[in-house]
Amino acid sequence: IIAHLAPLRESVGGSYGVVGVLQDITELRKLELLRRDFVANVSHELRTPLTSIQGFLEALMDGTIDESQPRDRYLKVIHQETLRLNRLIHDLLDLAIIESGKMRWELNPIDVSDLVARVHLKLKPQIERQQVKVNQDVPVDLSLMLGNEDRIEQVLTNLLENAVRYSPPGGAITVKAVEEAGKITVEVADQGPGIPPEDLPYIWERFHRVEKSRSRNLGGTGLGLAIVKQIIEAHGGRVEVRSEVGQGSNFSFTLEVVPAEN
Ligand code: ADP
Repeated sequence: IIAHLAPLRESVGGSYGVVGVLQDITELRKLELLRRDFVANVSHELRTPLTSIQGFLEALMDGTIDESQPRDRYLKVIHQETLRLNRLIHDLLDLAIIESGKMRWELNPIDVSDLVARVHLKLKPQIERQQVKVNQDVPVDLSLMLGNEDRIEQVLTNLLENAVRYSPPGGAITVKAVEEAGKITVEVADQGPGIPPEDLPYIWERFHRVEKSRSRNLGGTGLGLAIVKQIIEAHGGRVEVRSEVGQGSNFSFTLEVVPAEN
């Protein structure tokens, strides 16, 4: 609470009272702190790859390369870090666009079976590299889902990308759709390391990671799930996660089906 107090004065003579304005700034203050936190996080996330690019470039230029590490190894790190910087900037822009433009999204009827097949195909290189198997379990008579097709494709892509990224080689992933009471839930289940219960409530927050170094090494930006949540909630839908350490994780989102015409 903030109080602005101002003395009231007569034209001549001393003050005879005060007026006060009381304003609840706790909400404002919270927002301000969140914003500051976010800026600090972004700066840190951008600086980390830049520092490493700079270090490796300088080592190459000075010729102070450790002979046991071939030049190609240095170039590879520089390349990877550049790609990650690019993804990070792309994700940050995406989040900003989602936040500003969500009211204008056009809603389309989405065929979930097509969507799953499309995203599966798109991620084939990563899936093969990680040697995981992706099973699709979408009933043939599923209704059409109502949502912005591009944005929902982005949601499923982020979830499946994570499942692949955190799966052990040889792991199985299942993408499943279930319809109930006018809603469709799409689930992505993996056999990865799982998420500790204390992290579960925060997993959708920007830059919250269970293991920072692991996520970074695997190329993560820490923004994928925040984007998923923003998009689904802008649609009036719901996201959910269930997970057990050592067993795997199950991420899902629920949206309405296209209403039947009368
Ligand atoms: P990142 O780019 O780091 O993967 P995300 O926002 O997509 O960022 O995910 C946030 C964090 O949630 C990850 O760093 C990871 O710790 C955890 N996580 C997300 N998906 C999975 C999964 N399928 N299995 C285990 N951990 C996961």
